[in-house]
Amino acid sequence: MGGAARTEAYREAVHRAKRAGVIPPKNRRPFCNARCRDSHRCRARACFNIRRWRMSRRCRLHGGHSSGPTSASGKKRALEALARGRATLAKRRAENRR
Ligand SMILES: [Zn+2]
Repeated sequence: MGGAARTEAYREAVHRAKRAGVIPPKNRRPFCNARCRDSHRCRARACFNIRRWRMSRRCRLHGGHSSGPTSASGKKRALEALARGRATLAKRRAENRR
């Protein structure tokens, strides 16, 4: 689920949020400050996280960690996958012990 849907309603909501000061202008956003491979800090500005409706701490390139599934079905799927993975691991260990 990459970019938010660029619908007309979405554009309008962002425009209104910018005018109301909820979304700060780019030149007043904090720096990303992620450590780059050549050891300097990222000078790009932080993003506004539309899905969570607050400032993100990193730029569009660095993003930061995913906070995991958000929908009920996604959470359920993640837990099922976790249980399945653990069962497989336990089975493999039991086989190796023989
Ligand atoms: Zn960055």
